[in-house]
Amino acid sequence: MPQLYDQEQERRGVPRAAARPRRRRRRRRRRNRGPLLFTAVILLGAAVIAWNARNGAPKNNNTGEIEVPEWIVQDLLPLNQWSRPGDALPQVNGVVVHYVGNPGTTAEQNRSYFAYLAETHETSASSHFVVGMDGTVIQCVLLNEISYCSNHRNADTIAIECCHPDETGKFTGETMDALTRLVDWLIGTYGLEREDILRHYDVTGKECPKYFCDYPDQWEKFLDGLTFGAK
Ligand SMILES: [Zn+2]
Repeated sequence: MPQLYDQEQERRGVPRAAARPRRRRRRRRRRNRGPLLFTAVILLGAAVIAWNARNGAPKNNNTGEIEVPEWIVQDLLPLNQWSRPGDALPQVNGVVVHYVGNPGTTAEQNRSYFAYLAETHETSASSHFVVGMDGTVIQCVLLNEISYCSNHRNADTIAIECCHPDETGKFTGETMDALTRLVDWLIGTYGLEREDILRHYDVTGKECPKYFCDYPDQWEKFLDGLTFGAK
C-alpha cells in the first residue's frame, strides 16, 4: 500500500503516521505563543511610552516651510553636504544657542564661512541663524532642514550662532536684544518651554556659549527675559 502524504509532508518527506504527533506538538506550541505575543506587545508599548516620557514627545510637526518675520535677513547657504545637506528636520523640540568663538567677526562673515565649507571641505558646520554684534539676524538654513551645530540634537533643534566682540564671549546689548526677539519668535512658533532653550553646553558639555558657561546666572537671567506660553 502506498504511504499517504499530505502536502506539507510531501515537502518535508515525512510519512503521515510519524507527522501526527509532531503536528499536535506544533499546534500546542502555536497556542502557547498567544500569551507570549501579548506580553511582547505590552512590553513594547511600555518601552515606547517610557522612551517618549524620557525624551519628550514631539512638540510639533515641522514638515512645512515656515515664513520668517521681515526683521530676519534670509541669505540661505547653497545646498551642500558640508553645511546645508537639505535633510529634513521633522520636528523641533528645542533651540540651541552658541557663540561663534571668533571675536570681532560679523554675522555676514560667519555666514560666508559656512557657505565656503562647500568648497573648502574643512569641516561640517552651520546654524539656522547667525546673530551679529549689531543685532542683524541672518537665516542660513531653512527651518524644516537640519543644520550642523549641536551634535546629536541637530536632529530636533534650531541652532543660533551669536557673534561677540572679544575673548570673553560676552554678547553686545544689540545681540542680546536680537537673540531674545528671535528665541521668543521660535518659542511662539514651536510651542517651546523654558527647558527647551539650551546652551550648546547643555547638549555636549562644550564650553559654548563661553560667557553663559562662565556666568550661568546670566543665562538664567536671559531665560527669565523670554516670553513663554504667550499663545
Ligand atoms: Zn556651540
